Amino acid sequence: MTDRNLKPHPVAHQDVPSYDVFIAGSGPIGATYARLLVDSGLSVVMVEIGDQDTRIPAAHKKNEIEYQKDIDRFVRVIQGALSTVSIPTSSAVMPTLDPAAWQANDPKKRLVSNGRNPRQETWNNLGAQAVTRGVGGMATHWTCSTPEFLKGLERPKIFVDERSDDQEWKLLYSAARQLVGTSETEFDRSIRHNVVLETLQKSIREKYGDSRIVKPLPLACHRLAEHSPYVQWHGADNIYGDLFTDRDKCNKAGVQRGKFLLLTNTRCTRVVSDRKVQQINIQYAEVKDLLADRYTVAQGDTNFAIFAKVFVIAAGAIATPQILANSGFGGNRTEDPSPAHVIPNLGRYITEQPMAFCQIVLNQAIVDTITDFDGKPTWWIDAVKKHQKESPADPLPIPFQDGEPQVTIPVSEKFPWHTQIHRDAFSYGEAGPRVDSRVVVDLRFFGMQEGVKENRIIFEEDLTDSYGMPQPTFAYVPTKKYAQEANRMMADMTAVANSLGGYLPGSSPQFMEPGLALHLGGSTRVGHRAADSVADFNSRVWNFNNLFVAGNGNIPTPFGGNPTLTSMALAIRSAFYIHRTMGQGFKASVEAQGNDGEQLEPTPSEWVESLFNKDDPNFPDAMHLRPVHRYVA
Ligand SMILES: Cc1cc2nc3c(=O)[nH]c(=O)nc-3n(C[C@H](O)[C@H](O)[C@H](O)COP(=O)(O)OP(=O)(O)OC[C@H]3O[C@@H](n4cnc5c(N)ncnc54)[C@H](O)[C@@H]3O)c2cc1C
Repeated sequence: MTDRNLKPHPVAHQDVPSYDVFIAGSGPIGATYARLLVDSGLSVVMVEIGDQDTRIPAAHKKNEIEYQKDIDRFVRVIQGALSTVSIPTSSAVMPTLDPAAWQANDPKKRLVSNGRNPRQETWNNLGAQAVTRGVGGMATHWTCSTPEFLKGLERPKIFVDERSDDQEWKLLYSAARQLVGTSETEFDRSIRHNVVLETLQKSIREKYGDSRIVKPLPLACHRLAEHSPYVQWHGADNIYGDLFTDRDKCNKAGVQRGKFLLLTNTRCTRVVSDRKVQQINIQYAEVKDLLADRYTVAQGDTNFAIFAKVFVIAAGAIATPQILANSGFGGNRTEDPSPAHVIPNLGRYITEQPMAFCQIVLNQAIVDTITDFDGKPTWWIDAVKKHQKESPADPLPIPFQDGEPQVTIPVSEKFPWHTQIHRDAFSYGEAGPRVDSRVVVDLRFFGMQEGVKENRIIFEEDLTDSYGMPQPTFAYVPTKKYAQEANRMMADMTAVANSLGGYLPGSSPQFMEPGLALHLGGSTRVGHRAADSVADFNSRVWNFNNLFVAGNGNIPTPFGGNPTLTSMALAIRSAFYIHRTMGQGFKASVEAQGNDGEQLEPTPSEWVESLFNKDDPNFPDAMHLRPVHRYVA
């Protein structure tokens, strides 16, 4: 029974009266937990507030031929996928409206629906911060850039001892890369990629010697076939692997997969504990069936309880703390938290990345080198000659299907920002019909920010978002030190841009609206002390027995690099902890929490062994994952 007399959700039946693990959120991080835990034999029920909107669950939408043929068209897909979190509203009065039309009877009242937030100030907002709702989360449209965080600067320190820490990250990063399928060689046979890479390598070496490197951007994708002009972009579907299609598979040890069920259009409303004791135990998750909800006005009928032994909230950096705030654990506007606010740092210490952007059109001299065949490989010469023969009307010597440039200058101590020098769709930066997209290069530079307590998301108790959850309000101001760095980053970007070409009119160097990087961190930060974090380095929330947080919100450090690989790494570690501790009912390890990381255990290599062994039944085989759909049955 539950305290609110909720019915158990119909997923609970005779076969599976209770699942081992409940996961909220079906993005790449929820997928990481699901894959590893189900493969190890645990039963998992996952809820996702959005729908399945790709034929293969959680697939990357950019793989559709339509977008592979014209990447600019994908800009609109991304725009459609992003719902802005907090939109400041000034007044409900429109001066030019027909005087007979509806106006608020109190002109001081402001609009409050669909993310419009009268409490949001413009000066401290993350105006472009957005969420994506749907199976696969944001990885249905992401850029797939998967760098490692730089040790000593970006990478969180799990172990105090440096060697142990290095070893742990090495294991976690290589496992994460295997699981999502990351590579740096997929664009090796692209003319544009090589031209940009070599030009920058030369100009950076001339300026900085060997202290700064330029290399291919690590991307989660694989070329569809040798020499094919197309790559398959990886999303959370690669992480789920065959979880949806091969339910009875046994792992190498002969243990059969646990049951796995993904409930779509199901909102995780809150988690509920049995009683307030020193170490809180979550008993069930309250969920709402949003499909059934459309047919009824009797709201209660569509709320259910899902019981499990462990609860993982992996709903993204906004919705994860939002669910916990809605559970009454903290994160609200009230300055004087009630004793029930057991997670005082919820939504605090947030970080985001100042982002500089521009687009250039390649220099004439650089394009001219393409037809200078001296020293060029045969595939290059053949491709250019073939193109010139087949398309004599084309003023450019670049094959239409030549792969785009995908280059990076990684974060370093001296230049603490992540760079993407490439051509891709985002929610902005469409090349448009004015210019040939083949000579356009996008420069995206991502700076970092430290988490300070005052920078936070506040979850309003009396305002809701469009899904009925507490409305987030941002209170975020960049810190002085990093503001200076953003200024240096912009100067660096323009220098790099100048070595490549001239600015595309309308895309000259600019800072983008805060939040646009969509790499919000820190909202559920992990740490070694409850005093300044939300969870420990097993991602278990302080003072809770069986509650885990996951995703970019867990990252406690300033970072310029794209965070998903690191969040996967933390999830791989946490999933092992869940697997190991499950048998012990969790209580045994409670004392281990809070000992400055010394009680933390390394993740054993056996936990991720299957990811590296081609003969293992659970080897993540990205190349042979999905059959093509040739017809509608
Ligand atoms: C344009 C774009 C480009 C990007 N490029 C990169 C990149 O190159 N590299 C990189 O590392 N990252 C990139 N990202 C960010 C990356 O996609 C995210 O870091 C990643 O998806 C986070 O994974 P997640 O599983 O934690 O969260 P999400 O992917 O956000 O998934 C969370 C899921 O939880 C669901 N949910 C929310 N609330 C609830 C609730 N109450 N109940 C149930 N379910 C809920 C959501 O619907 C969503 O599906 C990009 C994102 C975008 C949009």
